Amino acid sequence: MKYPTELQSLITYLRKLPGVGNKTAERFAFALLEWKEKDLLDTSSLLGTLKTAIKACKTCGCLQDQNKCPFCQNRDSNTLCIISSPKDAYAIEDTHAYRGLYHVIETLLSPLEGRTPDQLDLPKLDHRIKSQNIQEIILALDSTLEGDATALFLKNHFDNQGLSVTRLAYGMPMGSTLDYIDEGTLSLAITGRRSF
Ligand SMILES: [Zn+2]
Repeated sequence: MKYPTELQSLITYLRKLPGVGNKTAERFAFALLEWKEKDLLDTSSLLGTLKTAIKACKTCGCLQDQNKCPFCQNRDSNTLCIISSPKDAYAIEDTHAYRGLYHVIETLLSPLEGRTPDQLDLPKLDHRIKSQNIQEIILALDSTLEGDATALFLKNHFDNQGLSVTRLAYGMPMGSTLDYIDEGTLSLAITGRRSF
């Protein structure tokens, strides 16, 4: 038996979310049917304005709050932590182990999926390192094949530039992405960062 058309479209959209398969999407869709109409309308209007309301900081790529970037203000400006998603900055902030700046590279290298170094916007990153007199680079990338490949590429890129390049390592489980690591482990990974 087929679901009503609208319900089936909702399931199709929900399946786009990470970790959501068909069964979960169906459960979510039926749960939404139980919501009050006002909550559904509020949610849909929020979704509709998401792209215009939430902007990335032009300097660091983290998410702004009311047109101000909370990640660029009052920071130790000699250290730059390179992350692959604006979300990772929140995970690192929650550890209270880091007070430096952030830089979101937006993608991890993956030759198989056609993600190549030209998508990393290195000129912007290089300009920032020079203009802000950055001394230390922390590569806070996922401990996955793509994360490792990107970290290695960036390390080679920064070679001979007189920068200290470190990478989160201590306690980072192999194959893990930053958002799955608990605060304590991530905090140890930052304070125990190693030269790379
Ligand atoms: Zn910023």
